[in-house]
Amino acid sequence: MSLPSCDVTIIGAGLAGSFLAVLLARRGDRVQVFERLPDMRRSQVPAGRSINLALAARGIRALELAELMPKVAPLLIPMRGRLLHDVDRTLSFMPYGQREHEVIYSVSRPGLNGVLLDAAERAGATIHFRQELVDVDYACRKLIFLDAATGRRHEVPMGTVIGADGAGSVLRRAAVTQLGLDCTEELLPHSYKELILPADAHARHRIEKHALHIWPRGGFMLIALPNLDGSFTVTLFLPKRGEPSFESLQNDAAIEQFFARHFPDAYELIPRVAEEFGKRPVGIMGTVRCRRWHVDRHVLLIGDAAHAITPFHGQGMNAAFEDCRELLEILRDATTWAEAFDRFETRRRPNAEAIADMALENYVEMRDTVRDPKFVLKKELSLELERRFPSRFVPRYSMVMFHDEIPYRVAFERGRIQETILNELTETATTLDEVDYERAAALINARLDPVA
Ligand SMILES: Cc1cc2nc3c(=O)[nH]c(=O)nc-3n(C[C@H](O)[C@H](O)[C@H](O)COP(=O)(O)OP(=O)(O)OC[C@H]3O[C@@H](n4cnc5c(N)ncnc54)[C@H](O)[C@@H]3O)c2cc1C
Repeated sequence: MSLPSCDVTIIGAGLAGSFLAVLLARRGDRVQVFERLPDMRRSQVPAGRSINLALAARGIRALELAELMPKVAPLLIPMRGRLLHDVDRTLSFMPYGQREHEVIYSVSRPGLNGVLLDAAERAGATIHFRQELVDVDYACRKLIFLDAATGRRHEVPMGTVIGADGAGSVLRRAAVTQLGLDCTEELLPHSYKELILPADAHARHRIEKHALHIWPRGGFMLIALPNLDGSFTVTLFLPKRGEPSFESLQNDAAIEQFFARHFPDAYELIPRVAEEFGKRPVGIMGTVRCRRWHVDRHVLLIGDAAHAITPFHGQGMNAAFEDCRELLEILRDATTWAEAFDRFETRRRPNAEAIADMALENYVEMRDTVRDPKFVLKKELSLELERRFPSRFVPRYSMVMFHDEIPYRVAFERGRIQETILNELTETATTLDEVDYERAAALINARLDPVA
């Protein structure tokens, strides 16, 4: 027996909140969404949010099940691999996968969010913009909102509530202080800033369009993802303090010198870099880990509100969409919301922990180890092993990005085993030809079960 439809309040009309509103409204629930920002379909995205994102298999599967891909597909630009930029301007390409469909897609955040908001409204959800959740009273079961238009506070009774209010979730923090919810928010000692590398005079991309560009520089890096208008969104990831850092880049001369020295090819393509740098905000990044995602039986945290992660695996949004898809599946045969929330947390939390750890590991890989010849050999070898032993060996990156049927936790565990195999096989080898493939077969058969 499926759960009867009910009144659901969603906090936040970002990627998770608006997608979940589509799914629940179509299920027959009466959905009210409260969003602190103005309607992004009619106003600019506030500075400081990532302007474009990488969409991969898990996100696509969820959007496909909701039949939203026809609307999303025109917004996508395939990226086939990493294009690394050395300081001496040498370029090297590392494919993400080895099959035609093994690509990830650059997508505009406001474009995608707009599609989801339209679909949510079409499905019957009501979205209240400029309504910021400012307080929660769990004891009296009240949500307190600030209406930006009137400057007044108003209360909404707490029925079934889903917190999709992002990494700084007010709903979560109130549960921590009022109900003793056990959560940690671990900030990275690095921050980020976004700049624009504009299109050429004919609205064409000035660097390779179908790649995710990386300028890895050890303790810091620059990356760029393509936009449909021919521009790229360029993101600098840099320590907050030390040398070099956001703190040390305090004047125009220091900023110009920093870009010219470390990213000479990008520097030539970003006009007035110091001026732009000065205008744009610095964003913070971190990992949120909570022991519970559902509180008080009627309240669930989802997406970044439950498990914000660092952006280095390009999976936060993908994981948030997967959350929504799995919650819908669970609701189909649950008898109460509390039971559904409990099952959702049990199923999803180990996966969220795994992708949080993999995202942190990927940061070191992207900014640093990606330049190491041993790392490059291991990447090539993992693709070769996948070719030779496709039922047992799938590179970890591919499991996360292209295999939505493999849960993150399984990808993490198999990835650990695979890493030891790769280390053993490349101990003495310096090229693929020098690898002992008979030993590879023995190690793989002994340590890895066939992929389910
Ligand atoms: C630099 C950067 C790059 C990223 N790149 C990728 C990528 O390539 N691929 C990927 O999959 N993920 C990426 N992510 C992660 C991704 O952005 C998040 O995981 C995703 O946005 C989570 O969706 P969400 O709906 O849970 O949270 P959000 O998108 O943050 O949405 C939360 C919504 O709630 C609203 N809100 C917040 N507080 C309140 C309140 N008190 N009252 C009412 N409304 C409120 C906000 O305005 C917002 O609309 C990146 C993140 C960053 C920072």
